Amino acid sequence: MAETREGRKRILSGMRPTGRLHLGNLVGALANWRDLQDDYDCFFMIADYHALMSEYEDPAGIAGAAREVLLDFVACGLDPQRSVIFRQSDVPQHAELHLILSCYTPIGWLERNPTYKEQMRELTKRDIHNYAFLGYPVLQAADILIYKAHLVPVGEDQLPHLELAREVVRRFNNLVGEEALVEPQAKLTASPRLLGTDRRKMSKSYGNQIDIADDPDTIRKKVMSMITDPKRIKRDDPGHPDACNVCDYYKTFKADEADEVARKCPRAEWGCTDCKKHLAEILIEYLAEPRRRRQELEADPDRLMRILADGAERAGAVASATLDDVRRLTGLGAM
Ligand code: SF4
Repeated sequence: MAETREGRKRILSGMRPTGRLHLGNLVGALANWRDLQDDYDCFFMIADYHALMSEYEDPAGIAGAAREVLLDFVACGLDPQRSVIFRQSDVPQHAELHLILSCYTPIGWLERNPTYKEQMRELTKRDIHNYAFLGYPVLQAADILIYKAHLVPVGEDQLPHLELAREVVRRFNNLVGEEALVEPQAKLTASPRLLGTDRRKMSKSYGNQIDIADDPDTIRKKVMSMITDPKRIKRDDPGHPDACNVCDYYKTFKADEADEVARKCPRAEWGCTDCKKHLAEILIEYLAEPRRRRQELEADPDRLMRILADGAERAGAVASATLDDVRRLTGLGAM
């Protein structure tokens, strides 16, 4: 399997820009991506073409959301020197490879995609009955394949998408008679799943998230609003830390204090207010460095633009080389 010039395997990962990222994004993905930079050649993408698929009726917010994601990427330790951080639409080769791979993708593969069916049912506030949305796994495949990425960090639920990308590679390579594209492998990550303050999935659409950029007072307010053990009504009632979201936060952000919380809570040795006040200070400390980095970068828009321009150039160079191969193998551009 081909490796990069540094001899490291390549990783591609990305996020749709929907605005500021939150603690769930940090512990569920960004912390893992940050660590992967030590051992892999990393490409991190802000997937704005993907955002357009659902936001096409009102796309004005996509650019601002992409900026917020870039700020959060860097704030959380993604390093533009070591990794290629780029915005998808700055590398239009993604779009061309997507179109070419569309020709090699049977429509039945897309129609049976479980996420497509699920999103059609769930995204009632957006009209996503468009051609692009049906084909988004092909764009995802193009995103990975254009960099010949060996690995893609995914959770179990995203395995079907990666499998589709692998099927596309096999079909394409088989039909052109050359191992031109690299079959990506899953890099399964066991990330803690962090619920929102109301115990539902953490999501901006529920308004239950703690943003990476939140200031200390906002964090305190949000933590104090967290839903705790519903059976603990009065201060003297014994609590059930296993049924309490606050205790899960301790396990994630201050594991060495989680046992203490689990001991004191059932004996009613401290109240939920004290427990949450202390948690808020832990989160404020945890987010202090990302917030400092974020503010520093936000105050330097030239640096922000340089990161994007540099990322586009480095990503574009790799993408062009792959696309040249694909065009040659498909006879495009020949006379
Ligand atoms: S003391 Fe803490 S862990 Fe126990 S129920 Fe209250 S908030 Fe939850």
